Amino acid sequence: MKTIRLKPGKEKSLLRHHPWVFDGAIAKGGADPGETVRVESHDGTFLAWGAYSPASRIRVRVWSFEQAQRIDAAFLRERLRQAIGLRDMWRLPSNGVRLVHGESDGLPGLVVDRYGDTLVAQFTSCGPERWKPVLADALLEITGLQRLYERSDASARAREGLPEVTGWLRGTGETALTIQEHGWRLGLDVASGHKTGYYLDQRDSRRDCADWVRRLGLGEVLNGFSYTGGFTVAALAGGARHVTSIDSSGPALEQARANVALNGFDLSRCTFLDADVNASLRRFQAEGRTFDAIVLDPPKLAPTVAHAERAARAYKDLNRLALQLLRPGGVLFTYSCSGGIGVELFQKIVAGAAFDAGVDAAIVQRQGGAADHPVALAFPEGEYLKGLVVVRRR
Ligand code: SAH
Repeated sequence: MKTIRLKPGKEKSLLRHHPWVFDGAIAKGGADPGETVRVESHDGTFLAWGAYSPASRIRVRVWSFEQAQRIDAAFLRERLRQAIGLRDMWRLPSNGVRLVHGESDGLPGLVVDRYGDTLVAQFTSCGPERWKPVLADALLEITGLQRLYERSDASARAREGLPEVTGWLRGTGETALTIQEHGWRLGLDVASGHKTGYYLDQRDSRRDCADWVRRLGLGEVLNGFSYTGGFTVAALAGGARHVTSIDSSGPALEQARANVALNGFDLSRCTFLDADVNASLRRFQAEGRTFDAIVLDPPKLAPTVAHAERAARAYKDLNRLALQLLRPGGVLFTYSCSGGIGVELFQKIVAGAAFDAGVDAAIVQRQGGAADHPVALAFPEGEYLKGLVVVRRR
């Protein structure tokens, strides 16, 4: 077993069970990609077992903090069983469920989503990459399913020195699927969709959106960054008279249109715009258009804290425009999935946007990732998605 010795004082975060060891913390030691290493403090005290990533700044990701633990197939199977067992207990209102959420489920570098009878996995670091066949077999065994599609095309792979890999890992068949979420039917494609096919993390927010639209009788809805129309279907299900969906991806809008039809809603209640959201908001403003509800769910504008300042300006701009387009009494559903922007900063940004817009607005609900996207308390970096439901009062 190879050993990684840390520099003096660098054991602190591991003692609090944070699962990462950065390159700068290491005094000596190395191993092959994904190999299990023993991490010890400068005085030789055992700290953790982890997977080694020679090319990454995050040099070791911890599998276990218990010295007696063997990192083998049985260990990984047990971790998977725990993560999947929790989801079974939670009875989420969808058959699209994140079964494994990386570090927060004790399986750094592994994401597994289930869409009906199909599993989709992302192996984003060297540890899970090395154990791929074991993990794949265990996933089928535990879930009783036969199909597992690999979507190892996340940008994190490059930082690990790993190539992009996509395709069936176990089983085969159609990659276009339909799931049920809150009783709505949603088509997606696990081969070509974003992430593993769908934004499962926004499930609760979509339900909340439908509820607000219904309770407040919100008629005219704008869904900015609509992707395949999850919020569009939610707003229609809530009784919206008309929903305008904007996205810069043509295929996503095609799927959004199909999803509206799949739920039996009349397409005449919808407009789909293949356009830039910011430019569209400006155009609506110039045209004097207003809305009863606006959803803003942009892509990750600040992947890390280093990008936060520029991203903050972009978020503020979008939110200012949206607040100006809202009728008094209207509701803004605004999100940030940027890890580099914390919930406090996001609230500040939206407050600045309201001030610049010259509107009086108040937060009436806070949102976050759904339960199948947990944030381990020892791993605050796992928190990325935050949402604010804001009512414009004047
Ligand atoms: N709300 C969606 C997820 C949105 S993901 C859901 O519930 O499923 C962000 C989307 O923004 C992606 O579909 C991407 O194609 C789109 N996008 C990125 N930049 C854009 C821009 N400048 N204008 C419009 N859409 C954009």
